[in-house]
Amino acid sequence: MAYSNRRLIPQSLQDHFIKLLLPLTALFSKWGLNPNSFTVAGVVITSVGAAACVMGYIRLAGILILKGTEKNMNYDVIIVGGGPAGLFSAYYLSEHSTKSVLLIDKGKVSQKRTCPIKSYQECIKCKPCNILSGIGGAGLFSDGKLNYIYKLGKTDLSQFMPLHQAEKLIDETEQIFNKFGMDGPTYPTDMEEAREIRKRAKRYGIDLLIIKQKHLGSDRLPEHIACMADFIKSKGVVIHTSEEVKEVLIEKNHAVGVATNRKNYFADNVILAPGRVGADWVGGQAQKNGIRLKQRGIEVGVRVEVHKDIMQDLCDVIYDPTFFIQTAKYDDQTRTFCTNKGGFVSLERYSNFVCVNGHAYRDKKSQNTNFAFLSKVVLTEPVTDNQAYGESIGSLATLIGGGKPILQRFGDLKRGRRSTWHRIRKGYIEPTMTDVVCGDIAMALPERILTNIIEGLEKLNHVVPGVANDETLLYAPEIKFFATQVETASDLETKIKGMYVAGDGPGVAGNIVSASATGLIPAKAIIAKG
Ligand SMILES: Cc1cc2nc3c(=O)[nH]c(=O)nc-3n(C[C@H](O)[C@H](O)[C@H](O)COP(=O)(O)OP(=O)(O)OC[C@H]3O[C@@H](n4cnc5c(N)ncnc54)[C@H](O)[C@@H]3O)c2cc1C
Repeated sequence: MAYSNRRLIPQSLQDHFIKLLLPLTALFSKWGLNPNSFTVAGVVITSVGAAACVMGYIRLAGILILKGTEKNMNYDVIIVGGGPAGLFSAYYLSEHSTKSVLLIDKGKVSQKRTCPIKSYQECIKCKPCNILSGIGGAGLFSDGKLNYIYKLGKTDLSQFMPLHQAEKLIDETEQIFNKFGMDGPTYPTDMEEAREIRKRAKRYGIDLLIIKQKHLGSDRLPEHIACMADFIKSKGVVIHTSEEVKEVLIEKNHAVGVATNRKNYFADNVILAPGRVGADWVGGQAQKNGIRLKQRGIEVGVRVEVHKDIMQDLCDVIYDPTFFIQTAKYDDQTRTFCTNKGGFVSLERYSNFVCVNGHAYRDKKSQNTNFAFLSKVVLTEPVTDNQAYGESIGSLATLIGGGKPILQRFGDLKRGRRSTWHRIRKGYIEPTMTDVVCGDIAMALPERILTNIIEGLEKLNHVVPGVANDETLLYAPEIKFFATQVETASDLETKIKGMYVAGDGPGVAGNIVSASATGLIPAKAIIAKG
């Protein structure tokens, strides 16, 4: 293959010598010294290496010192995206091989990621968005609800491996989270009670998914992710931030590297893990190289906010209850998702529209609980572009909201009138997100989705009394794009040799745990290739 000509030293010799050098670079990192920028240290290490090795190793040593320096442009693996998927790939490669790895993220390091909305009281449209981009990915300021299950929402790992292996992969992922302190109370706290709740729900035609969950809290994640990134760096992985990958370089059907806004880097293996913010980009790269994309549905709805007393008993047992409700008029599926007890509603900004989301801190609590309430949409032939449909709903809602999410009381929605701050303040629920426009969600969401939400909430009220009260707050739009899925083999390699995908962006995952798990798949495949 064309790229192999760029290698000056056989891989086996490189691997052998890297084994000798890595403990030293790790030591430098422990002393607080950045091994990436240590040319002088490089000379020292070279000398040690040279003394220890035969003549042929001397030139090799010089080259390998460059491993991890800014000057180096050749690696074994390049990872695009430092979210959970990219970080787990980098972790696995660094822990289980001597491959040289470059991880590139267009955002900042986790400690430098702050959302200015707190100071400005409104979104100032950072580029890239500090909430969605940077080391830790979109998960950094997330609630850190870890769902240890192989199939949930957008994720189904059993499409890539037999069920027992998918379960084993989830267990392995959990162990890595635990290793970096990303552990927390396990839910359901009482399995018997959880089964009772499910039984009650079934009487009203509602199903409840019981999942092993842990909750870390948004305030803990930056610290844990920084610790994981430091560990990975100490193992020799080079991390570039504030650098955007523009294109995957391909020669004769093989990935040979990437072109960024700064320069070109070369590697036989490229793992694309750019998350939701990079879904369009990764889709474009796939299409450009003749890789098929599978259209998937979307979920559209609202973020519901109630006083925390309404859901306290339920959430004490099941932290994030996922109820599935079949609606009467349209026979569509609606579901609850991402429940945040004592949490906060938050903004999710895309290039052309705004959406809402929610999170909860472990220590700082609000008086409310919020959850997503979503209606599934799958367009079928002849019109199948779910993504474009979702984006146009997002754009319309953003237009109606004057660039901000729309807030409405459930009672006002049912009466067919808009909400105002005056009406909202009459209720006892204080909204946790105020950079919104009080209005009429019926002007923004399609009738079918609106009907599903109204019917679904009223049905849910039988199991969770109070969720359909007049004062319940609804924020719109909340849209979950099941990114188009990039076609791959079961090890997540595309038909372009050496070009792998992982995480939410290419549509192979849909939450923190599954994104991390899919990061391990290509890392293992690359190591297995030798
Ligand atoms: C507010 C919020 C709350 C959430 N809460 C939860 C939760 O509690 N539990 C849960 O399981 N999930 C939650 N999620 C979803 C979760 O964060 C994602 O599923 C997960 O982060 C996906 O991981 P990923 O690695 O695939 O992508 P991401 O985490 O999105 O990371 C992708 C990274 O790639 C970088 N990137 C993109 N394109 C390029 C490029 N061209 N060049 C260089 N870098 C690039 C981005 O900057 C980003 O840092 C939440 C999401 C949000 C936004």
